[in-house]
Amino acid sequence: MTNHTSYIRQERRARSTGAVVQVLDLRHPDTQFAPEDDCVWATVCVTHGTICVHPTLALARSHAADPAGWCERCRGVARVCASCLGDCYWHDEAWVCDSCGDEWYPDHGSEYAAPGAAS
Ligand SMILES: [Zn+2]
Ligand SMILES: [Zn+2]
Repeated sequence: MTNHTSYIRQERRARSTGAVVQVLDLRHPDTQFAPEDDCVWATVCVTHGTICVHPTLALARSHAADPAGWCERCRGVARVCASCLGDCYWHDEAWVCDSCGDEWYPDHGSEYAAPGAAS
């Protein structure tokens, strides 16, 4: 019997964004992801389906603690919809509310600044 989850080295809920993040060993044959060159470790945001690969386990673990640094949708949850107070996610150039669909552009003010923009 193979343990199908043995390639999952770590699974945690990130305190900053509430997303579930896994650290994966990409050398394991059961993973759905292939290693990229020397990057055989991956952090995956299970909540949003985002993957980020690394050459060392230490790097993968440090990224797992802060998914907002590499998962765009984790970054996006930081905005609250002014219409319905739902979660807004960043879509290319605007925040889009997951609940009511309202769009909030960065020109609404600093509250809706683009992710990564200098504040
Ligand atoms: Zn995420
Ligand atoms: Zn809304």
